[in-house]
Amino acid sequence: PESKLPEVGTTIFSVMSALAADKKAVNLGQGFPDFSCDPALPTMVTQAMADNYNQYPPMPGMPQLREQIAAKIKSIYGHAYDVNTEITVTAGATQGILTVLLACVHVGDEVIVIEPAYDSYVPSIKLAGGIPVFVSMELGADGYTIPWDKVKASITDKTRLLMLNSPHNPTGSVLSVVDIAALTDIVRDTKVLIASDEVYEHMVFDGGRHESLSRYPELAERSFIISSFGKTYHVTGWKVGYVTAPAALMAEFRKVHQYNVFTVNTPMQVGLAQYMNNPAPYLELPDFYQKKRDLFRTGLANSRLRLLPCAGTYFQSVDYSAASNMTELDFARWLTTEIGVAAIPVSAFYKQGKESGIVRFCFAKQDATLQDALQRLQNI
Ligand code: PMP
Ligand code: GLN
Repeated sequence: PESKLPEVGTTIFSVMSALAADKKAVNLGQGFPDFSCDPALPTMVTQAMADNYNQYPPMPGMPQLREQIAAKIKSIYGHAYDVNTEITVTAGATQGILTVLLACVHVGDEVIVIEPAYDSYVPSIKLAGGIPVFVSMELGADGYTIPWDKVKASITDKTRLLMLNSPHNPTGSVLSVVDIAALTDIVRDTKVLIASDEVYEHMVFDGGRHESLSRYPELAERSFIISSFGKTYHVTGWKVGYVTAPAALMAEFRKVHQYNVFTVNTPMQVGLAQYMNNPAPYLELPDFYQKKRDLFRTGLANSRLRLLPCAGTYFQSVDYSAASNMTELDFARWLTTEIGVAAIPVSAFYKQGKESGIVRFCFAKQDATLQDALQRLQNI
């Protein structure tokens, strides 16, 4: 049959992880921790299974988990989402994002995407029949920023939705209050909806705060906000996340959700709900990852890899142009094969594969893994 996604191949994350395994390289490519989660968490999940939480949960998710999510958002960001009508548990952020797009985007609608963009956004827009409209972030001395004048200029009467991601994969940039003010001005008096991918919400460094759109009523009223337990609790393989939105938007979301997954596995929801009683794990996360960021940055400070700013996420991007003029994909392959450290080419996050001489490393690794990688990277 004619492909619905002719330009799509295997994701860069799978490709680089396979190459890293083949070459026995330290895998700083695909974003996932190489350390264990808190053992208390799987204990709660296995207990939930033993307690026979093994049948379908309610379609929007287990009530106790939705209650914990609502309480967390209220306590950190001050917004009170209704537990019954405004929160849905998803099979990771990826399913949440696709479901938002399928629920909102009509054939021919335009969706604004800020590049570099996480790789699932554009295929998901296309599956919904939408047309991606690209605005590139600009790289200056302070790192990557969104040119809001260009976002404004790209809004037409066909614009249905704006996709945002902060803290941002792969650049590590975070939205500031100045960005929020610009965004608020731009969408006011429009019907543009927002999908805000906040999966790295608990990884903002240097005392900064995460500007969740849920903090801002004027933005929250038109936003779907997406998060993932995989990032926050070091369990990327569990694929459990959630989406929040005002009730009218969430009602549309659930029409699609009930037919693409219906529900997400019960025992993990029960275990996660119990685990969320203690806020310490996510409150301690910025400090935990900031130490790893600093270890990694310090180790590269005297290398030929130029460190770009990293205000959030567990990704550090570097400009390698002083070391090589290879394309990003070739350089990432060379790093994996010859130096023994896998990375992700940032060109993979651009529609046209734009080359900037930058690759991304993931520092969600044990200190010993980072030390090993740093030793190898001295050889560049
Ligand atoms: N959005 C971004 C920006 C991500 O980095 C990721 C994880 N790689 C996801 C979404 C997907 O999250 P999940 O694994 O929960 O589907
Ligand atoms: N989000 C992770 C990353 O950016 C990878 C997820 C995936 O492999 N699809 O590395």
